[in-house]
Amino acid sequence: MRNEPDKVDWVRVMPFAILHLGCFGIIWVGVSAFAAWAAVFLYFVRMFAVTGIHHRYFSHKTYSTSRAGQFFLALWAGTTVQRGSLWWAYHHRHHHQHSDDPEDAHSPHVHGFLWSHIGWITSRRNFPTDYSKIKDLQKFPELVWLNRFDLVVPILYAASMFGIGALLEKFAPGLGTNGWQMLVWGFFVSTTALFHGTACINSMAHLMGKRRYKTDDDSRNSFILAIICLGEGWHNNHHRYQSATRNGFYWWEIDPTYYGLKVLSWTGLIWGLKNVPQSVLDEGMRAEHEASVAAAQASSQVRPEHASSLRHVLPAAAAIAVATVNAANTQIPQKPDSAAMHKDLTELAHELDRKAPTAHTPAVSTDTDNAR
Ligand SMILES: [Zn+2]
Ligand SMILES: [Zn+2]
Repeated sequence: MRNEPDKVDWVRVMPFAILHLGCFGIIWVGVSAFAAWAAVFLYFVRMFAVTGIHHRYFSHKTYSTSRAGQFFLALWAGTTVQRGSLWWAYHHRHHHQHSDDPEDAHSPHVHGFLWSHIGWITSRRNFPTDYSKIKDLQKFPELVWLNRFDLVVPILYAASMFGIGALLEKFAPGLGTNGWQMLVWGFFVSTTALFHGTACINSMAHLMGKRRYKTDDDSRNSFILAIICLGEGWHNNHHRYQSATRNGFYWWEIDPTYYGLKVLSWTGLIWGLKNVPQSVLDEGMRAEHEASVAAAQASSQVRPEHASSLRHVLPAAAAIAVATVNAANTQIPQKPDSAAMHKDLTELAHELDRKAPTAHTPAVSTDTDNAR
C-alpha cells in the first residue's frame, strides 16, 4: 500500500462523510446548554489527548509512564477517533523525518492545502502502520490490538454519550438533554471539530505564523493555532527540538497541554517530563534579537513615497528621530574596543547615523542645522 499513488480512496472517505453528516443531526435533536457545553468540554479534553498523548507521548516519548498508565493513555487517546496511537505515532515520526519534502504525507507546500488537511488520510497509501518505525511501541500487544481494532474505543465512546444522555433525561430532566442529543453533540459535533482542529496543524502550521528557528522545513509558530490546539501551534519550536514536553518554549508562549501534563505528573500517572535545553532557548532568543534588528534596519530604509500607512511611517519616524539625536551630538558614540554586549545594535546605530541624512534629507538636515 505504501507504494500506491496519492489519491482519494472513496471507501476511506465514508467514515469522514458519516462524521460530518452526523452533525446535521442537530436539526432533529435540537440543542440544550448542557449538550453544547459538553461538546466544548469534550473537544478540549480530547484535544489534550491528541496533543499530550498521541503526539507528546506516543510519537515523541517526551515523558514516561507505567505500562498500565500507557494503556490508560491509549484508551483516552482512542476516544479522539483519530485511529490508533501507533498509526498516529508512525505517521507523525514519518512527518518529522520528511517534513515538507515529497515523501511528507501532509505537506501543504508539496500537496496543497486540502490534501494536507484531509485528503491524505483518505489515501490507501497512508492507511497502514509501518511497525518498523515504532519498534518501541510494537512490543506491547495491548497497544497493537487497540491499533488494529481502532474502532472499538470510538464505538464505546459514542455509546457512552448516548447512555449518559439517556440517564440524564431520566434522572435530571431539568437539563433538557437526552441520548440522541448527547450522541450528536458529544460525539459527532465535538469529534468533527476536533478533527479539523487537529488537521489545522498539518495544513496551517507550515503556512501560518512566524519562523523563529531556521529549520529545514517550513514549520511556523502561531498563537491562534496554539489556542485551537492547546499549545501545538508552537510548531516551529517543536520542529527545532522535538524531545521536550513543552512546545511553548518561553513563559509567554501559552501551552495548555504542557500545564495539563505537569498537573498529571503530580498525580504520579506520568513522570520524567523533558525540558528544553538551555542552548536551544538561547538560540531562539538570539534569532529573535537578530530578526528585530533586521526589522528595524528594514524600516529605516522605507522611503516617504512608500510609507503609505502608520505601520511604515512610525518605525521610519523613530529611526529619523534616533538619527537626528545622534547627528546633534558633538561627540559621535564610538564603538567600544572590547566585544560589546549588543554588538549588532551598536552597528545599527552607526548604520542609521550614516544612512539617515541622505535617505530622509530635508527634515533631518534642517533639524540638525537648527540644533547646531
Ligand atoms: Zn510539522
Ligand atoms: Zn511532533
